[in-house]
Amino acid sequence: MKKYLLPLIMLTIFETIAVTLWLTQKNLFYLFNFSYIGISISLGIFLYIRKYKYARRVAQLLVGLYMLVYLGLICSENMQIEGFWYYLFTGVFEAATIHYAVAKIFGPLLFGRGWCGYACWTAMVLDFLPYKVSETPRKKIGWIRYIIFAMSLIFVSTLFLAHVGNLEEIMFWAFIIGNVMYYAVGIILAFAYKDNRAFCKYICPITIFLKPMSYFSLLRIKCDESKCISCDKCKKVCPMEVDITDNSRKRKNGTECILCFECVKNCPKDAL
Ligand code: SF4
Ligand code: SF4
Ligand code: SF4
Repeated sequence: MKKYLLPLIMLTIFETIAVTLWLTQKNLFYLFNFSYIGISISLGIFLYIRKYKYARRVAQLLVGLYMLVYLGLICSENMQIEGFWYYLFTGVFEAATIHYAVAKIFGPLLFGRGWCGYACWTAMVLDFLPYKVSETPRKKIGWIRYIIFAMSLIFVSTLFLAHVGNLEEIMFWAFIIGNVMYYAVGIILAFAYKDNRAFCKYICPITIFLKPMSYFSLLRIKCDESKCISCDKCKKVCPMEVDITDNSRKRKNGTECILCFECVKNCPKDAL
């Protein structure tokens, strides 16, 4: 049973969030929502432990499709960054604000960038593309994410300052158009740079929250230096170019680890 501890811990964390929000917000939806996400992620980790090849993709599709299709398209909740600003400005602690608090701001202190590996609906599509590992050197264009971040904030602030009406509908269309643009840019960049995760590395504005918070993550992969033979296989299979053999928090690209466990699977010495 010991090897199933991690999925059980994840399930417990999500159930705690689900019950707490259900009782404090007096809304049954939170019980359903976070239980579903917790079960999906725990199932993914369980399947990984059972050595199922597509374990992570199962979790990614279960959570990603639920958030994109059910929450985004059917329930009209804007879960993109502009939705976060929108709910923050209206002072309503629900939907995107709760989603950001759990998955992208405070959650990463516990489970790092697990969101990026197991739940994000943008990466869910990008991970189907052919470049699992970057085939070109890293680019110095990460500053673009700050521009996108600022643009989303300016966009929502302007709507509020100009007292524009029908904000709910505008937010719904912003979600649709924003996602179409993210997918288009993500796919073009993946082919241009031969790197499925180029969008995550250079464009995604959410990384402004994710990177600093995941620096302190409790859950992180470590290298047993007594077993490591410096074969570098872990680095060759890493989609985010993390130097996982360095145990310090300042490891190269350390705040980009999406906990996909490709390095762990491919280490010939079980050093990770
Ligand atoms: S970096 Fe952004 S696009 Fe990439 S997986 Fe994370 S949240 Fe999704
Ligand atoms: S794959 Fe394993 S043995 Fe090889 S460098 Fe990485 S941690 Fe060390
Ligand atoms: S391969 Fe390892 S170091 Fe790279 S992102 Fe996946 S879990 Fe993190």
